[in-house]
Amino acid sequence: MTAIDPDAFLRDLYELRKIGQFRTGVHRPTYSPQDMESRRWLMEKLAACGLEASIDGIGNVYGRHKGPGPHLLVGSHIESQNEAGWLDGALGVVAGVALARAGLPVDVFAFADEEGHFGGGFLGSLSIIGDLTDAEIDRCHNRTGTTLREALRNAGLEGKPRLQLEPGRHKGFFEMHIEQGTQLERAGLHIGVVTGIVAIWQWRLVIEGQQDHAGGTTMAERKDAGLTAVRLLAAIDAEFPRVAGERSTWTTGRIVLDPGAASIIPGRAEVLFQFRDVSVPVLERMEATLRALVREANRRERCAVTLDAVSKAVPALCDPTMMRSLAEAAEQLAPAAWQEMPSGAGHDAQNIARRMPAAMLFVPSIDGISHHWAEDTKDEDLALGIRVLDEAARRFLATS
Ligand SMILES: [Zn+2]
Repeated sequence: MTAIDPDAFLRDLYELRKIGQFRTGVHRPTYSPQDMESRRWLMEKLAACGLEASIDGIGNVYGRHKGPGPHLLVGSHIESQNEAGWLDGALGVVAGVALARAGLPVDVFAFADEEGHFGGGFLGSLSIIGDLTDAEIDRCHNRTGTTLREALRNAGLEGKPRLQLEPGRHKGFFEMHIEQGTQLERAGLHIGVVTGIVAIWQWRLVIEGQQDHAGGTTMAERKDAGLTAVRLLAAIDAEFPRVAGERSTWTTGRIVLDPGAASIIPGRAEVLFQFRDVSVPVLERMEATLRALVREANRRERCAVTLDAVSKAVPALCDPTMMRSLAEAAEQLAPAAWQEMPSGAGHDAQNIARRMPAAMLFVPSIDGISHHWAEDTKDEDLALGIRVLDEAARRFLATS
C-alpha cells in the first residue's frame, strides 16, 4: 500500500465533472450518452489502478481487486439528477478509485440509477443484493415514457448478466457522500460520521365530512373536512417536538380537498403525511402521538378521521466498528472538527447494509445546496474527506 493521493483524487473529480457538464454542475441522467461516457471513463480509471473493470446488465460498473482479501467494497452512484451537482454520487465512486490507487484491497462499485430516473431509485444496489426482479425491470420507465428495457438496449447493456455480491468476499462497505444539508457548515465542522440512514414512515389520513353549499349551510351546521384536516395537522406540529428526536422531520406533502371548489364545503380531505428518524423508538413515539391526536380529533370534531399506514421502512444503521474506524480517523486528521450525524436522505448504503456491515462519511455542502447545478464543496474539505476515509479503511481492515 502507498499513501493516499488527495491531488490525484481531486484531478479525477474535476475530470469527471467535464462529462455532461451543465454550468458548474453536470447533466448525466441514467443511461444517457453522457452517463454511459462517465461509466466508460470510470472503467478506464479502475483498470489504470489495477482493478478488473466490467459493466453489468443494469449498468453497474464494477472494479474488482485482483489480490487477496479481506476486501472492502467502496462506491456510490455516477449518474446525476437532471441539471444537477457534480459531487452527488460521483464523490463516493471516485473515492473508491483513490483507495484503489493507494493499493488498498478495495472493490469499487458505481451503482446504476440511484437517482430514480427509471422508477423508485437504487436499481443498481437493489440488483446486486438480489432484490430487483426481471418483472420489476419490465415495469420501469422514465418520465418521457422510455422503458428501462429500451434504455438498456440503447446503452448496449441488453443481455449482459447482472452482477451479484459474492457472499463472504467483503468485510464492509464504505460510501463517502456530500451532506446535502447545512448541519456541518453551521457547526463549523468538516467531517460527518453517519450513524444511520433515516427510515420514512408514510401515512394517509382521510377525513370524511359533508359536502355542502358554502353560503346556505351555517357555520354551526357544517362538517368541513378541510378545516378538520388543517386543525389536526396544526396539532401534530405542536405536539411532535415533545416526542421527536433532535433530527426528526415531519412533512405534509399533499392535501387534497374534495370536490375542491371555491363555493363548496369540502366533504372529504385526503392527506399524505410522513415522518423520518434513524431511531425506531423515536419513530414509535411519533406514531403513538399521531394515533392519540387522531383519536382526540375523532372525539372533538364533527368529521370522522381515519389513519392508514402506507409504509414503515426500517432505518439502516451504520456498523459500530466501521463507525469507530471513521471516528478515530476523523479525530486524528481533523481533531474536534467532526461529528456523528444521521443521514436524512436515502443512499445506496441502505441497501448494501442489508448484506454486510456498512458505513458512511459526509463532507460539508456549501450552503447545503444539492440536486442543483450550484452544488459544491471546498477542495480542502474534499481532500480532508478522502484522507479520513483512507485512514478509516486501513484501521477497519486491521480490526479482527
Ligand atoms: Zn447521492
